[in-house]
Amino acid sequence: MDELKTLIDGYKRFYKKFFEEQKELDKNLFIKPQTPKFLVISCCDSRVNPSQIMDTKPGDIFVIRNVANLVPTNESDGKPHSVGAAIEFAVKHLRVKHIIVLGHSQCGGIRALMEGKHSGDEYDFIDPWMDIAKKARENVLKDHKDKSFKDQCSYCEKASIKISLNNLMAFPWVKQKCESGELNIHGWYFDMETGSLLSKQGETFLPVDKLLLK
Ligand SMILES: [Zn+2]
Repeated sequence: MDELKTLIDGYKRFYKKFFEEQKELDKNLFIKPQTPKFLVISCCDSRVNPSQIMDTKPGDIFVIRNVANLVPTNESDGKPHSVGAAIEFAVKHLRVKHIIVLGHSQCGGIRALMEGKHSGDEYDFIDPWMDIAKKARENVLKDHKDKSFKDQCSYCEKASIKISLNNLMAFPWVKQKCESGELNIHGWYFDMETGSLLSKQGETFLPVDKLLLK
């Protein structure tokens, strides 16, 4: 049970900060309805916590996390789709102004995708999930076949962001709000080795600071 102590101690610091010290200011955060301006879609990786990376407060960002920060294709088949449901809630109900697909380096999901199909019963869920980004793998193997596996994974991490952005635009209400200027979608990439946060600009990724110069 000692492992849980870190979490319980962390909760105590959180409670002190938001429910004791800044009572009036921050209590409202939890009592009033949430009004985040941003939806961030990030990986489950324990080091890629968007609230931590962008130092946000409770209420600032609505977050979807899944393996390799993927947006599946728009499947309105009446079956439960957790990512689609969360995007729908963020766009239609919360009316977020920005959607950020946040990829990252050394992604285990992308590495699994680049390794190819796993035989046996080692993974029941990862291969079919990562199929969402199979086109990224195909393109990387075609365009960067001479690169090292590590570099190919890095290209694939970025190429899969593009697939997710395209899949986002396949939701008609996302497309419509983007066209009317109510919504903007972005592809960002967190380089864990250097700590850099990059933004997709055309076909390349540049430091996010550059966005503020526009
Ligand atoms: Zn990842």
